[in-house]
Amino acid sequence: MTVNELKQTANQIRADAVTMIHDAATGHTGGAMSAADILTALYCRILNVYPDDPKNPDRDRFFLSKGHSCEGYYAVLAHRGFFDKKELATFSRAGSRIIGHPNNQVPGVEVCTGALGHGLPVAVGAALGAKRTGKGYRVYCLMGDGEQAEGSVWEAAMAGANYRLDNLFAMVDRNGLQISGSTEDVMALEDFKAKWQAFGWDVCEVDGNDMEALVNYFEGEHAKDKPHMLIAHTIKGKGLPFAENKAEWHHKVPSDEQLTEAYRALDVKGASFK
Ligand SMILES: [Mg+2]
Repeated sequence: MTVNELKQTANQIRADAVTMIHDAATGHTGGAMSAADILTALYCRILNVYPDDPKNPDRDRFFLSKGHSCEGYYAVLAHRGFFDKKELATFSRAGSRIIGHPNNQVPGVEVCTGALGHGLPVAVGAALGAKRTGKGYRVYCLMGDGEQAEGSVWEAAMAGANYRLDNLFAMVDRNGLQISGSTEDVMALEDFKAKWQAFGWDVCEVDGNDMEALVNYFEGEHAKDKPHMLIAHTIKGKGLPFAENKAEWHHKVPSDEQLTEAYRALDVKGASFK
């Protein structure tokens, strides 16, 4: 996909995710919107994945550690062909496998996540496994910035550098907000880049809602013998004028009128699964 196609796809992913949340009357709007560009870049251009053979041993591994932002993740997996888009209409309904945090019964989902702080430790294990078995796959892990208060993140950060896992690409959706307010008020992270560098990681920062910047980062050259951290500066609620940069939209559901406003702002006709 070209960068322009990726941008349009990311907005369709946003529209699908916000529709799922509206229809189910539950979900995590803000984080699904901020991460939509990252997920679209990865699944529609960067990751080496096999939708018809999801467990292919040569696949790149992706872990959504900020599991509550699963609506965009399910939408992009369906868009990429891991399962029928129509199943997105079952989100958070009784009996559905498309539930409120990533569920490994869904094709393409590696592990159940959402208890925060678990994704990076698992990703470190997968990357170490690739090194020890001579496999060439890469491992990607997307975390939230509120999630950085979890101690297990920093244990994994030490291990990733210790084992020189240059096949590991961790990312933080740095939208500056978490469920209860600003990350700097709840559990201050800055100087965040210096912290990851001190743990021995190769650290880059980009605008995480800039598709071209994301593609250039992932397709560029990367340091050898160190794991990689991308601090992706994003806007929580990105694309929805009523939700941008508002912590209350971490877990808020749009009204009928707001759903219509979202489609207009995203320049899409509506959900792609209806
Ligand atoms: Mg956040």
